[in-house]
Formats: sequence, C-alpha cells, structure tokens
Amino acid sequence: MYDVLVIGAGHAGCEAAAAAARRGARVGLLTFRAEDAGQMSCNPSIGGVGKGHLVRELDVFDGLMARAADRAAIHRRMLNRSKGPAVWGPRVQADRRLYRAAIGELLAENEVELVIAEALRLIVRDGRVAGVETSVGNLSCRALVIATGTFLDARLFVGEEVVEGGRRGERASIALAEQIREVGLGQGRLKTGTPPRLDGRTIDWARLEEQPSDNDAWSMSALDDGAAPPQLSCAITRTNERTHDIIRANFDRSPLFAGAIEGRGPRYCPSIEDKVKRFGDRDGHQIFLEPEGLDDPLVYPNGISTSLPADVQREFVHSIAGLERAEIVRPGYAVEYEYVDPRRLNATLEVRDLGGLFLAGQISGTTGYEEAAAQGLAAGLNAAAVALDLPEVRFDRRTSYIGVMLDDLTLQGVSEPYRMMTARAEYRLSLRADNATTRLGEAALAGHCVSDRRRAQIEQHFALRSDPSWATTEEGRADTLYAPYIERQRREWEVVRRDSHVWIPAGFDFGAVSGLSNEMVERLGATRPETLDQASRVAGVTPAALSALYVAAARRSSA
Ligand SMILES: Cc1cc2nc3c(=O)[nH]c(=O)nc-3n(C[C@H](O)[C@H](O)[C@H](O)COP(=O)(O)OP(=O)(O)OC[C@H]3O[C@@H](n4cnc5c(N)ncnc54)[C@H](O)[C@@H]3O)c2cc1C
Repeated sequence: MYDVLVIGAGHAGCEAAAAAARRGARVGLLTFRAEDAGQMSCNPSIGGVGKGHLVRELDVFDGLMARAADRAAIHRRMLNRSKGPAVWGPRVQADRRLYRAAIGELLAENEVELVIAEALRLIVRDGRVAGVETSVGNLSCRALVIATGTFLDARLFVGEEVVEGGRRGERASIALAEQIREVGLGQGRLKTGTPPRLDGRTIDWARLEEQPSDNDAWSMSALDDGAAPPQLSCAITRTNERTHDIIRANFDRSPLFAGAIEGRGPRYCPSIEDKVKRFGDRDGHQIFLEPEGLDDPLVYPNGISTSLPADVQREFVHSIAGLERAEIVRPGYAVEYEYVDPRRLNATLEVRDLGGLFLAGQISGTTGYEEAAAQGLAAGLNAAAVALDLPEVRFDRRTSYIGVMLDDLTLQGVSEPYRMMTARAEYRLSLRADNATTRLGEAALAGHCVSDRRRAQIEQHFALRSDPSWATTEEGRADTLYAPYIERQRREWEVVRRDSHVWIPAGFDFGAVSGLSNEMVERLGATRPETLDQASRVAGVTPAALSALYVAAARRSSA
C-alpha cells in the first residue's frame, strides 16, 4: 500500500511525488517510461517573467525545479532588467539531458519509487479513491495525484496529418481519459504547439545578432549544488514579409484554421500562423535561436510554434535571415487534449466530490512547466496531508504567485490554457522573485517538508534580515525602493474594498487602462460592467485587474 500514488512523471508529477515524500509519505510515481521523468516537451528553458517567480517559490519548499535548472543551465538571462526588480524574471536555458538527469537524481534523493506502467483506471471505494488499475496490476493508495499533462485522449497535428499521441512518438492516455469522463470530470479540449527543431550546424550564425549569457552568476535556487556547466550564446532573428506571405498562402492547410483543431490555444503563446493572421501587418516577429544542449546540435527556434504542413514549415523557415539553409530535424506540431475544469478542485487541488483525488498540471487547464510544477508541489503536500493526517498547506495570493494561480484556477476556471504573468498578481510589488524566502520561508518550515540543509538556509536568511548589512543586499535594496509604493497600494486596496459601488462611465475604454492585460480588456469589454462591484463578478476578472480598473474609473469620474 502506497500512501500517495502519482500518475505521470512530468513537471507536475515529479514535484508532487517529491513533495509528498518530503512530508514522510511512501510514494509511487507511475510513468510510461523511466526516461520521461523531467522531460521538457517543448522549450528547453525554465523560468521567465512570472514563471521565474513560481520557480523561486517552489525552491523555498525544497521543490526540484530550481536546483535541476541550475545543474543544467547553459545560458542565464534575467529578463526585464530595464524595469523594476518586482518584474525581473530569472530564466535559464537548460541542457535537456542534464535537466532529466538532475530530476532523476533528486527523485532518488527524495526516495520516490518509480513504477513503470500505464495507469488505466481509478479504483473508487465508498466515494473515495483507493488505488489505480495499471498495466502491471492493481496498486492501492490513500491519496492519488493525476498529472498526465497533454496526454488525455490526445491528438497531434502536422498540417493535414493527425495521429493519436500525447507528445511526438509517445502514445496518448486513452483508457484513463474515458474513465475521467465517466466520473464526470472531463471538461473539454485545449491545444498547444511546438516549433520545428533545427540542426544548429546548418544555421548561418555569423549573420545573426548574438545574445550572450548574463555575466553575473545569479542562480535559480537558494541552495548551491556547485554545478557550473559551460555557458552558450543564443542568437536573434526575425520573420519578414516573405515569411508572412508564405504562411498566409497556406492558411487553408492549417488544422487551426481549417477547423480540425477544436481546442483553444494559449493566447500569450500563439503559433506563428496565428500571429500572422492577427498581427500580419507587422514587419516581423522576433525569433530566439536557443541551443538544446552542450552535446546536442538541435536548436529550438523560440517564436515560430506551428502546425502547418512540413513542406510549408521548410519553405517559411528558409525565408528567414540566417536560416536560408537550415535543416529541419523534426517538424513543429500541435497537440490537442482533454482537460478538467479546475473549478472542480478546492484550493488544495483535491477534487471536491471525489475524496483523496488530486489533480495537478496541464490536466487542470494550465500551460508551462513552471505552472505545472507549482501545482504539483501544492497537490503533493496536500495528498500527503490526506494520507498521513497532517495539516493542509494552503497558498495565499497575498504572499505568493502559487496562491494567485490556485485562486484564479479554482475560483475562475479557464477558457484557454492558463499561463502565469505578473499582471495576474495585484500584490506584485511585494511578490518579487528576490524575496521568495522572506514570503514563504516560515510556511515551508511549518509544513515540515524541507531538508535540514534547506532549514538552515531559511533560518540563516531570517537572521540576516535583522542585520544592519541587510539594506545592502539585492532584496534589502528592493524593499527600500518599493516601501512607499507598497504602502500606497495597501491604501488603494482599502479604498477599492470600500468603494465597490464606484461607477464605470458609459463608453469607458477598457483598452486604455494601464496595467490591464488583453485578456481582461476582452472579458470586461464583452460584459461592460457599470460598477466596480459588477466588474468583480465578471468571470475571470482578477483582483489585479480590479485594482487597475478602480484607479482609472475613479480618475475618469472625478475628471
Ligand atoms: C507539443 C507541445 C508543445 C508545448 N508548447 C508549450 C509552449 O510553447 N509553452 C509552454 O509553456 N508550454 C508548452 N507545452 C506544455 C508543457 O509541456 C506542459 O505545460 C508541461 O510539460 C506540463 O507538465 P505536466 O507535468 O502537467 O505534464 P507533462 O510534462 O506532459 O507530463 C505528463 C506525464 O504523464 C505521463 N502519463 C500520461 N498518461 C499516463 C498514464 N496513463 N500512465 C502513466 N503515465 C502517464 C506522460 O508519459 C508524461 O510523462 C507544450 C506541450 C507539448 C506537448
């Protein structure tokens, strides 16, 4: 009998398994193949704006992602450095092989047992999950986490070609998807896509702008494991009018536009054909050419994810500067899969009406490794709580991006794959990537889910905060910089709560409100609320958006 079983060794599953094990649970992690643990399905990078914040938060709870990213980092970039530190985004490019090896080592360190098998059906007894039927027999457990990513009843698209599969060359999870529908959890379909992979030896690097790795040696994790892989440069190129003409001429061969794909894709990570359709008049879209590894000639062209036919991919790639002779090793493709409405979960990620069952990752309507991993942490900590009768671990949106995401997902649901962005957090001046330990250290210690080494690091951090030298640290300087703004934000929030009856003038231009994302502008524009109170009840409108709206509406009414 396992205390906790986890289905799927992707980013959510690995974090869930390790987190439950750190709380003392006996954990089995089910995966089709051992080498799938820590596999990066798409971009070979970890972090970014909003996403890097999630990784630093995971790290405080001794999560795996930050340490694995440091061990595999072959290029580091602190994004948004020209802006304030609250929105800096630590991002590393990871050697795929080193990243998988690091995740494997960390799972072993956490004493997670890998079970190589396909999960076929849930075993439900007295309204609770009691185990899983698998291809190697039945396994029983006290709590179960499903983290099957893009695999539920999944189909892959390259132009007119459609095949069943969760990722290229990997089968889909069909039996489990059927049962998830039977128990009433299936919700609908979403999609995401990936670009073609290029042979770096056929790229004309000399013609392109080089993007070197950062000089200062910052790290993702607060723990230093001493790994220092060599650093590689990336390069930048762009699409052009000819690229757009080629893509436009083949819109009718795109499964996206021909209606073959019914699921909605991520608005903030559109395919190149989507970008050309929506913003085709632009003179070009940027492409980052990112090496996939130290001993790997593959290059990931970030910015041209596509499901156009392979011959069209070849033609448009060859129209791009530096890629005229680039060889496509694997064409890009889209994946469409089943997901579960996250409003069926409570804030600990347990299914409301099926006790002991937790969901985490892309299955709950998100996209991205970091979003998946952060949900895995929450699900794993709380699955262990159910199995071992321990206190729950809840995340608050005032103190973490993890809290923002869990709150948004479980209260608002999703209409497209959810991706983390700093605009989703109304407290973003205090939720910085540099102060994750300060925000969450006490909760991590109270959750009894960290190693002795981590405990010592957190305690040392709090000791340093009471030392006069604190003001000279990066976090100390940011605290000083933001103190007056945070105080103003606190006062604004009090006013928002008090003045929820504030009128939004007729004909109000939501698109002109600074700080409102396109998604929020669309949601508000479609319903046109007349007061702030009504706006707060529009599905999907975040507290951060309300705060921005309040400032603009109050200014308009008093003008
Ligand atoms: C083609 C493609 C393109 C993507 N593009 C982007 C992008 O551009 N940007 C972005 O942010 N994200 C992208 N993603 C999403 C990103 O890969 C996921 O968000 C992330 O990997 C989700 O993590 P996860 O742990 O939920 O699932 P996954 O990483 O998908 O892991 C799921 C695991 O579950 C296993 N599994 C499934 N069913 C079973 C079963 N029945 N029994 C045992 N094991 C099972 C699978 O083998 C797999 O190892 C893309 C994904 C794909 C496939």
